Amino acid sequence: MSTGFYWDERCFWHAGGNYALTLPLGGLVQPLAAGGLPENPETKRRLKNLMEATGLVKDLSVRGAEPATRQVLERVHPASYLDAFKEMSDAGGGELGLRTPFAKGGYEIACLSAGLAVQAVADVMAGEVQNAYALSRPPGHHCLPDWPNGFCLMANIAIAIEAAKAKGLGRVAVIDWDVHHGNGTEHIFYERDDVLTISLHQEHNYPLDSGDVGDTGRSAGEGFNMNIPLPPGTGHESYVEAMARIVLPALDRFQPDLIIVACGFDAGIYDPIAQMLCTVETFGEMTRQVMGAADRLCDGRVVMVHEGGYSEVYVPFCGHRVIQELSGSDCDAPDPMAPTVKARQPNARAIAFTSGLIEEMAAGFGL
Ligand code: ZN
Repeated sequence: MSTGFYWDERCFWHAGGNYALTLPLGGLVQPLAAGGLPENPETKRRLKNLMEATGLVKDLSVRGAEPATRQVLERVHPASYLDAFKEMSDAGGGELGLRTPFAKGGYEIACLSAGLAVQAVADVMAGEVQNAYALSRPPGHHCLPDWPNGFCLMANIAIAIEAAKAKGLGRVAVIDWDVHHGNGTEHIFYERDDVLTISLHQEHNYPLDSGDVGDTGRSAGEGFNMNIPLPPGTGHESYVEAMARIVLPALDRFQPDLIIVACGFDAGIYDPIAQMLCTVETFGEMTRQVMGAADRLCDGRVVMVHEGGYSEVYVPFCGHRVIQELSGSDCDAPDPMAPTVKARQPNARAIAFTSGLIEEMAAGFGL
């Protein structure tokens, strides 16, 4: 069976405000020549273009989606939030919450971004495709039901889960390897035992005050939220180790019916707003790890939904490798920086240090 690839040109037209990295312009902050937030279309567009250039796109089932409906959105977001967002969007755009600017029509594009995730999950659950990648934009994993933040305007993955659950989907595991804490997804499912949320992230990058290892869920959800905060400079070997030592055993324990990956590439070594050292190989290996678990546990059902990742040059190669692994295609886009990124990995002592942290966390999770 094939790999579904879900995208829409209009998702590239979501326009953020005038910033330099995450700094508003003014004072001593000069506007960038290219302009805008790091969350701009280029990383996503260049990934799609690279897939065209190598021919990978021909090995996929390329699909679009309808915008998520109001009924589907309201399973996660209150009507008051959706109304306020739509009203500001119709009036010319603006900013809601923290660092989530959008232009006129941003509401409709966010509905479309969520719709891509909804359709990807629906098609995998219907057996129309084996697995899927949704190139959603704007991203979603920071968004709370009534408070958007961190470039995220709607909780794409949570919306897709709730839409599928309304049609009978059982247990879902969400693995968030975006470098930032998946605070929105955590919040939405914090008291639930039917959705396991796991976030690997750079400790206290964004948000500054969430993502602690001790935040494990509440009431019925106790034990069903797992944070794996990693120190700046964590590289390939330790990411793969954290997956093998914590994430995969947690999946085996939980027995999901579907695995969703919040697939950010900002743990990549060239990311401008994070300080991890992951490479194309890291994302390829983590994809193989997830697919292996999915084969064991849920007939290979994996949906990846695009989140962050801000190196315009490097994200496309990381994304290409992930989608290549999902599809088993032999259209390759070798990492042009392979020798450099290999040489820049942490040394053995640093790896041993992080390994100790991973062991401690695994023990804390009873794994
Ligand atoms: Zn991120």
